[in-house]
Amino acid sequence: MDVVQYPGPVLRRGGKKVESFGPDLSRLAEQMLETMYSSKGVGLAAPQVGVELDLLVFNPSGDPEDRSGERVLVNPELLERKGKEFGEEGCLSFPGLYADVERAVTVAIRFQDLQGAVHEERLTDFVARIVQHEIDHLRGVLFVDRLSSVEKLRVRTRLLEMEERVPAPSRGQARA
Ligand SMILES: [Zn+2]
Repeated sequence: MDVVQYPGPVLRRGGKKVESFGPDLSRLAEQMLETMYSSKGVGLAAPQVGVELDLLVFNPSGDPEDRSGERVLVNPELLERKGKEFGEEGCLSFPGLYADVERAVTVAIRFQDLQGAVHEERLTDFVARIVQHEIDHLRGVLFVDRLSSVEKLRVRTRLLEMEERVPAPSRGQARA
């Protein structure tokens, strides 16, 4: 699977609620994990591979040899957030771009597993940060939307480069 890079429009569309649980969903999660590992990421949301579903995967180690922290969350929602902390984030849809983002330190989430069972859980620190970043993807929100004005200014040139990299439909074609 290819990771959709900014400013791919699907990144702004986000995901829709998963209604159908079965082998197709499990296969998608497995493919997303493989894509995440081969891209050297620690988290990936379905819209980043062009699939508009509320599904995310992560593994804080980012290491396919250490899958103890590997997780798949279906239809996740944030129930509660506590504390605030800045930390550096990157995103597989923004290669080479890193910036400080403020996130809650602890979050409570509700989600379904691949069988559709509902769970509630409290997450903290790095794992909480990953999950907040990925849930944002499901809402069409990107980490660059959450930067302070100083950070926004700092990454502005790089963002503009990315926006120009994807050719917009040319006027000539539109007229043809
Ligand atoms: Zn991301």
